[in-house]
Amino acid sequence: MSEEISELVLDALGGEGFEPPKTQRIFTNRDLDFESIEAIGFDMDYTLAVYKQAAMEQLSLDATVAKLLAKGYPTQLSSLRVDLDFAMRGLIVDKLEGNLLKLDRHGYVGRAFHGHRRMSGSERTTMYSAQRIGQDPERFAWADTLFALPEITVFAKIVDLIDGAPDSFVQHGAPTYERAWHDVRAAIDLAHQDDSIKREIKARPGEYLEDDPELAITLHKLRSSGKKLFLLTNSYYPYSKVLMSHLLDRRLPEYESWQSFFDWVIVGSKKPSFFDAGQQFLEIDPDSGELTGEAVDVPLRGKVYQGGAREGLQDALAMPGDSVLYVGDHIYGDIVKSKKSSSWRTALVLSDLEHDLAVRDRYRSALEEVESLTRLRNQLSEQSGDQRNLLRQIDKLEPSDINEVVGDGVLAERECEALLEKGVQAARRRHDRLKRHHERVYERLKEVRKEVGKAFNPYWGSVFAERYDTSLFGAQVENYACIYTSRVSNFRYVSPARKFHAPHGSLPHW
Ligand code: IMP
Ligand code: MG
Repeated sequence: MSEEISELVLDALGGEGFEPPKTQRIFTNRDLDFESIEAIGFDMDYTLAVYKQAAMEQLSLDATVAKLLAKGYPTQLSSLRVDLDFAMRGLIVDKLEGNLLKLDRHGYVGRAFHGHRRMSGSERTTMYSAQRIGQDPERFAWADTLFALPEITVFAKIVDLIDGAPDSFVQHGAPTYERAWHDVRAAIDLAHQDDSIKREIKARPGEYLEDDPELAITLHKLRSSGKKLFLLTNSYYPYSKVLMSHLLDRRLPEYESWQSFFDWVIVGSKKPSFFDAGQQFLEIDPDSGELTGEAVDVPLRGKVYQGGAREGLQDALAMPGDSVLYVGDHIYGDIVKSKKSSSWRTALVLSDLEHDLAVRDRYRSALEEVESLTRLRNQLSEQSGDQRNLLRQIDKLEPSDINEVVGDGVLAERECEALLEKGVQAARRRHDRLKRHHERVYERLKEVRKEVGKAFNPYWGSVFAERYDTSLFGAQVENYACIYTSRVSNFRYVSPARKFHAPHGSLPHW
């Protein structure tokens, strides 16, 4: 390693034992010995190449709307702007009813919107009383990547129009919600494939990509510790080349071009089927970007390929599956699928994590207050339940019963009645006091929860939590990603001998 680069590595590390800020840490769900990882694969979009969300969403939204307008959708759509809060990762779309849902880890609907209208608790329960909503793909779609957010924005607006201005669908009349969802999906799909989105990004990558000055040094550091690196992306070569050049060319003197950072480059990989379906690797000439006509089962180092299959890549890597770490942003396409069809270890990159961590940090005491108020509320409601019970029992008593308990048969009936009345009043007072206390605690709890929830997201709260539990999305992160972090360059802090250690699991009785 040249002097200059090793200095850079040290700078990036910030010295011995440097603990990065929490927003830049890597979190562990399953133990992982980094030393035993011999190869690291990277997804490109939203993993190595992180988009400026507002610019990217507006671009995708405009391209999608243009296609819908051409299909006869109302002109009101043309003024649609992105709302970075309303469309959030992890939401479930109920295509049939025009609703957006946020689920907790058990599949219960915690929050719901019909278009942009928040659904009331009773409306929600009537429609979604069953657990495990969202498992029928015919009816439900999952927005599990940041690419999917514009379709949520467009769909919600169309639902509003179907309800509030059906006459604006002048050409064919208002569609069903389900039809509208399919039209939105088809439009955005096409916008991704026909170059309407990519043409603009290729022309001005700097306007759409976050600059990460630490990315090159991070990849270099991983290579220097002896790990092989590969790029495995669904994007095709011309687009991948522009993005990767923008991010990595001329960043470090040792590296001639972005390609020199990777031992294998695989584009147009068709994940998730890459992980379990067999396809040949088609060689690409990196200068012309054209297919050379060569097709192989096992890709060669230093070449660029399109397509392929995990098995062939595994043969090329010539190492056990669990020595490979795949880093991606798509919980299903990159992580769940690679986990289910191979023994590759997985790292999830979640850019939304930085905001979540920052809010958790800023609102730490409010979050603690929520915890203790919740505990107190439960105790008070238990105690007031006990008092109610007591009142019910006292109500059933006859004056003669009082004589048996406290008067030993010697009290006059009048005295028994007075005692009974006194008891009833005391129990009632205690019950009322507890009820008032409970109401005050609950009011405060709602207030603090609202304040914290709003800081996460004014419509949906935290991506990773729902009410007092993990959200369905949070649970998926926990179940499938061995480790997760907010950006690839956070790996620059990781020593090659790092033992990623998961917190011990726990059951309520431990
Ligand atoms: P990766 O994350 O690098 O594997 O690739 C993501 C690729 O998928 C990018 O080229 C996106 O343009 C493309 N993409 C994302 N969403 C859609 C979609 O809904 N339809 C078609 N392509 C998509
Ligand atoms: Mg991706």
